[in-house]
Amino acid sequence: MKKNLFGLTLADLERELLPLPKFRAKQIAAHIYKHAVKNFDAMNDLPKNLRTELSSRFEIKIADLLKRLDSRDGLTTKFLLGLAGGAAVEIVLMRHDYGNSVCISSQVGCQMGCAFCASTLKGFERNLTAAEMLGEIFFAEEIFRGEGKKLDSVVVMGTGEPLMNFDELIKMLRLLHEDYCLGMSYRKITISTCGLVPAIKKLRDEKIPVTLSISLHAPDDKLRCALMPINSAFGLKSLLAAGDDYAQSTGRRVTYEYILIGGVNDTEEHARRLAKILSGQLANVNLIPFNPVDEKNFRPPTNNAVKKFFHFLNTHGIGATIRKEMGADVNAACGQLRAKILV
Ligand code: SF4
Repeated sequence: MKKNLFGLTLADLERELLPLPKFRAKQIAAHIYKHAVKNFDAMNDLPKNLRTELSSRFEIKIADLLKRLDSRDGLTTKFLLGLAGGAAVEIVLMRHDYGNSVCISSQVGCQMGCAFCASTLKGFERNLTAAEMLGEIFFAEEIFRGEGKKLDSVVVMGTGEPLMNFDELIKMLRLLHEDYCLGMSYRKITISTCGLVPAIKKLRDEKIPVTLSISLHAPDDKLRCALMPINSAFGLKSLLAAGDDYAQSTGRRVTYEYILIGGVNDTEEHARRLAKILSGQLANVNLIPFNPVDEKNFRPPTNNAVKKFFHFLNTHGIGATIRKEMGADVNAACGQLRAKILV
């Protein structure tokens, strides 16, 4: 089996390619990451015999396209990608007025068991490697480039809990940030967590100023435990303290995601409690009207409930936005496409 060079750091490439001199590793890294070359024969600045030797020992592989779904308005595209060992993950490309972003997965399936989420439907298979996560991003970058656009930001908010895959996540982020790779600013990267408090502290200690997004979805422990089992291990008090500490340490405003589910967490009383617990935090709230999932017995909120919730927060000192509905017609909620295709 050929060794895949995609996803290796420059230092790893240098080691892998020994006894070749270091400048060869630099040339090859530029081909892989700057020019998206996947075939050694196209590396024209390498001697022909070296290209032949590299082709016999190595490959440059990102992911296989299994399925593509485009939204009717053309703003959202969801891909199901095939990975080593038969695994499949989803990514979602979003074309906003203010830039283009990709939402990637960090695990195959998810073990966190959030009640409203389709990612749990097929159970948990495995963590993604740093190379696989970087591959999701490069796949998106190539699609955007083909459209004459560029990838502006990355959100790790697809299937999986990224902080459960901490070491590979950090490895991927550091590589993505390298000049010889995409050179992406950490400020253009958002990591979402369902609330693993010790890992939020670990992320703070990495001193990489990515935006932290915390999936809150409830303003009190009782409701949050019912929606998100993680809350039984790390309750709201410790989670909000960890979020506040992250914001103070990095100077980065934390985003609290709040999926509005009809009749569950979308009343004015919920908004009042949410404003109370977030009062004084360097934070803003992203309200997400629930995207229906066939297998889950929840319904979307009414437009009126969304407007009232939003208005309440904004008039009580909490900056809130409503996430524009994107791609409902391509099953944009995480895990939905994978669950539907992999029956
Ligand atoms: S919401 Fe996120 S953490 Fe919760 S089950 Fe879905 S993918 Fe996992």
